[in-house]
Parts: sequence; C-alpha cells; structure tokens
Amino acid sequence: MTDRTPLRRVLLKLSGEAFSDPEVKGGIDPRIVSQVAREIGELQASDGTEIGVVVGGGNIFRGNSPAAAGMDRSSADHMGMLATVINALALQDALEKEGVETRVQTAVAMQELAEPYIRRRAVRHLEKGRVVIFAAGLGVPYFTTDTTAAQRALEIGADAILKGTQVDGVYDRDPKQDAGAIRYEVIDFLAVLNQGLKVMDATAISLCMDNQLPIVVFELLREGNIGRVVKGESVGTLVRAAPVTDA
Ligand code: UDP
Repeated sequence: MTDRTPLRRVLLKLSGEAFSDPEVKGGIDPRIVSQVAREIGELQASDGTEIGVVVGGGNIFRGNSPAAAGMDRSSADHMGMLATVINALALQDALEKEGVETRVQTAVAMQELAEPYIRRRAVRHLEKGRVVIFAAGLGVPYFTTDTTAAQRALEIGADAILKGTQVDGVYDRDPKQDAGAIRYEVIDFLAVLNQGLKVMDATAISLCMDNQLPIVVFELLREGNIGRVVKGESVGTLVRAAPVTDA
C-alpha cells in the first residue's frame, strides 16, 4: 500500500488504554469495550473484512512500569502478558454479545481458556469470518504488543496494521501539550524513527519497515473510524515506506 486503498485483511492493534475510560485510566470499562466490539462487528458484517486483533495489557500491568519496580524483568513481563489475556477475554465476550464469531489464540499455553497460537489455524478462522484475538503477546519477555502486532500481521498476510489510539494520528509534537502541533497525513518509517515519533516502539517500526507493512494510526473511539480506514478513506496518519523516486 503506497497510498490509501481499501483493505481486505487487517490487524487491529488495541492498546490496553482502549479498554479503559480515558478519564479514569486503567482497568476495564465495559462500555468502552462494547463500543469497540460494536465497531468491529459492524465492519465485519458490512463488507466481510477479515480482522485479527492484537490486544495490549497496559491498562492492567506493564513489565517496565513503576508497579514492577524491583521485580525480575522476565517475571514482570509474564505478568504483563497475562494482562493481555484478561483484555482478550473481555473483548471476546463483548464481540460475541454483538453476534461476532471469535477465537482467542494465545502465545502462552492456556488450553482451558484459549487456543494456542497456530498461524495456519488463525488464517483459516479469518477466512471463515471469525475475528481472531491474539493474546499474550509473542509469549516472550522484553517485547511489546506493538511488536506482536507487526509480527502477527506479517504472519497472517494482513494488508496493514490499524493502530487505534486516543489521538487522531501522528503529530510532529504532542498535541495534548502543544496546540500548534501538526498532524501528518502520510509519513515514512524512517522519518518516524529519526524523529522519535511515538507511533509504535522501534522494534515494531523496524519490522514493518523491513517488510513494507503499512500502519494506519487513527482515533479509535470516533464512531465509524475503523470502517473508514478499511475503506481507504483518509483518516489519521498513514505510515509507509518512502516512495521510490527516479534519481
Ligand atoms: N509483553 C511481553 N512480551 C510480549 C508482549 C507483551 O513481555 O511479547 C508484556 C510486557 O510486560 C508489556 C505487557 O506485556 O509491558 C503489556 O503489553 P504492552 O505494554 O505492549 O501493552 P499496551 O501498551 O499495548 O497496552
């Protein structure tokens, strides 16, 4: 995707913050989860878009947060991965209430709760119209769910990563701190890395850059936004490889 085009299969990245009230910060707000589930359900019902979702866990626990101070980092990251499973189950419940068929696949074996992550099976679920929720990140410490999103998107052959956030795209400065901040319509991976823009962590951006996997950063809770991005409308910011120019 060098520019906006309709998307057939997408990987939606939902950070932990997507599960909580922005005013409250932390925990799970069932109204917010229901809203996200409704949007996903409507999108799937309207045009059969294949949707994989990677869920974060930052609303509950992060391995590098102050709450983990003094802990062994790997143990703390295990706790963070478990937090993503809690969010995955909340989203699954909300999606099923919307009548959407789902499967949770986890990178850490938890057979009573969810399927193990198996790439071919995940793709088959998508083809059958099920939303696949990927939980427990990559199953290894020192990684993030942003990197998981890049990894899973590549594995399932997604057209793009849809990164839903609380702001409506990528800005040159923090728009919450500086009213003069300017939003990018399109930006390339290298500029994101060089300018240290907060899109996803550097490992995730590098993986997308190396494999030319576009990312659309958009405001998650604006009604109909996920659908607009999938239709190829100019919503949020498109992060992609720099176009090749003739020398
Ligand atoms: N995590 C991990 N390995 C992974 C993915 C996640 O160890 O492959 C842990 C890590 O501690 C991280 C936490 O899970 O802080 C929650 O994920 P993340 O911070 O990416 O959630 P988000 O910021 O998207 O809410």
